[in-house]
Amino acid sequence: MSKLETSLIHQGDHFNTTKSVVSPIYQTSTYFADADLSSYIHAATAPKYPEFYHRHGNPTSSQVAAILADLEKTEDALVLATGMAAISTAILAIVQHGDHIVAQQSHYSGTALFFKDFLSQYGIEITYINQTDNDAFKQAIRPNTKLIYVETPSNPNLDITDLTFVAQLGKQNGILTMADNTFASPINQTPCAFGIDIVVHSATKYLGGHSDLTAGVVCGSRAYIERVWQRSLVLGSSLSPFDSWLLLRGLKTLALRVRQINENALALAQWLEKDGRIKKVTYAGLDTHPQKTLVRKQMRGFTGMLCIEMSGADEKEAYSRAQQLLGHLQVFANAASLGGVESLIVHPASMWGSHHSEEQKKTAGISKGLLRISVGIEHIDDLISDVKQALDKIYPLSL
Ligand SMILES: *Cc1c(COP(=O)(O)O)cnc(C)c1O
Repeated sequence: MSKLETSLIHQGDHFNTTKSVVSPIYQTSTYFADADLSSYIHAATAPKYPEFYHRHGNPTSSQVAAILADLEKTEDALVLATGMAAISTAILAIVQHGDHIVAQQSHYSGTALFFKDFLSQYGIEITYINQTDNDAFKQAIRPNTKLIYVETPSNPNLDITDLTFVAQLGKQNGILTMADNTFASPINQTPCAFGIDIVVHSATKYLGGHSDLTAGVVCGSRAYIERVWQRSLVLGSSLSPFDSWLLLRGLKTLALRVRQINENALALAQWLEKDGRIKKVTYAGLDTHPQKTLVRKQMRGFTGMLCIEMSGADEKEAYSRAQQLLGHLQVFANAASLGGVESLIVHPASMWGSHHSEEQKKTAGISKGLLRISVGIEHIDDLISDVKQALDKIYPLSL
């Protein structure tokens, strides 16, 4: 379909074979088979067949996948139970014992754990590089490199990876490239338009958009998605019928939500920077973002994600002020996750907790005074006054 707003509403309509305008929830584990055994064999073996047995596929999941493939400009897509199911299954469809992956030094915490604690146990080597340094990608490549894995903007510090550079590097060396596009959403960024081969998402975030489901998506070529589907069939990570339906419903308003979120987040970031009491404000849309030119080259909008670093004489004071801010905010909820209609704020150093060493947190740029904000669609005036009243309590003497 030509325009994404229309695709969000109508792509994959043919998977709804009923007369209902809104697709029904196919709350079933299995489907009546044809008496004719040759069509039964087809249903039992065709990739993503939507009406055979739930682990193989589901009509709503097929409809969602059609929308996302269209949005991400790939041939096909597969919907899975969580973002981590999508990421792990997508990677396991590429690498095996003896292979090598080039990844970034900062990733979503679950992805970082998958590399560090899981893949390394299966004889897969990973080199972690600074994603803002193109040369580092080039130098990390080995003869057995099978995948370059990127995430941009990165979690939580919003570092930007040069998608065109990585895609070309992959193509020149016969290496597949995969991008986690969760933070940007397909409204703000289309990695495949720059030559990236595969896109993964935590659909729990912007795609679902209402903090009421977990889901993941892998987008890529038809042949590759078939391989991912074969892995998911044995790993058992299919998305439940109800969550699939919620995701389809959430997607209808994706463009509207993300545009409002972009607008709110930019206004909040600009207000915080001007206010001056926060030590550092990081937002992809600010003129002060260190990779401003690259941001504008590959992103159409700047997302709802921003990071603030509290000031303090030392780490301890910055940490204490971060904790105070969390306590004083009334509209922003202190909760993990992001990308919903409600504004959330988290303390990444605590969220990473004991899963990661202090050294790893440092490399990923996670200081004790750092807070990550996911801006929602509340009125911007209420968001700003909430932050202002909280800052007024922490810095009573500053004007
Ligand atoms: C949340 C998130 C994931 C993991 O998704 P789940 O749905 O929680 O499994 C992966 N990548 C990024 C960037 C995320 O924010």
